[in-house]
Amino acid sequence: MFVDSHCHLNYLENPEAALARARAAGVNELLCIGVEQAAIEEVLAMAENHSGVWASVGEHPGSCSGDAAWVNRYLDRSDVIAVGEMGLDYLYVDDNKARAEQRHTFAQQLQLAENHALPVIVHTRSAEVDTLALITEFPKVRGVLHCFTESWAMAEQALAEDYYISISGIVTFKNAAQVREVAERVPDERLLIETDAPWLAPVPHRGKKNEPGFVADTAKFLADLRGVEVAELAQFTRENFFRLFNRAV
Ligand SMILES: [Zn+2]
Repeated sequence: MFVDSHCHLNYLENPEAALARARAAGVNELLCIGVEQAAIEEVLAMAENHSGVWASVGEHPGSCSGDAAWVNRYLDRSDVIAVGEMGLDYLYVDDNKARAEQRHTFAQQLQLAENHALPVIVHTRSAEVDTLALITEFPKVRGVLHCFTESWAMAEQALAEDYYISISGIVTFKNAAQVREVAERVPDERLLIETDAPWLAPVPHRGKKNEPGFVADTAKFLADLRGVEVAELAQFTRENFFRLFNRAV
């Protein structure tokens, strides 16, 4: 019923048990996200060993090595359905050189995505202008701004570049008015849902480790917010997932 479009299954203590609980909650399909070279074999093993689990390969700005060329090695595998996560996170990075390295590895990965006709998974925080500038430089590349917490103005510009917006459990948090505004306004055909597990467990699981099954709670919250039935929201977010990540079959 539900798809978790973004989780880090390999960082959960017991992925097998979490997958069993996810299935019981109606979550049969999920995308396990790569963020760094050191853990990529674990991410690929998740996809290899489980049906309904796919992988992405990328270098997160938080683990920026300055050269993301290694990503290319994995992009011809049938179970790798996206490049990422990649992007820009300036929140705790004031240094211009470090920011420039983030932009360089982001651009490298956008180019790899274009070369392989794969969609991208973009992490963006406190870097609206530079993120939009870079995705605009690669007009053939489609993707998603995941765990979106930025302004509606940014979301609108990303939508105009044919990007999707993914909403995480943050939308259920008390102080998340800006995320709720975006979550209400994104058109049905561009909305994705995710956990970003093991981080950011939604209400009513706060304080626990997040896991893919909890995307059902975020879906219910979003359905209420948007005034639709949860089954309808589950269906169109699932269709969106398979339209964007069209290597997933
Ligand atoms: Zn993530």
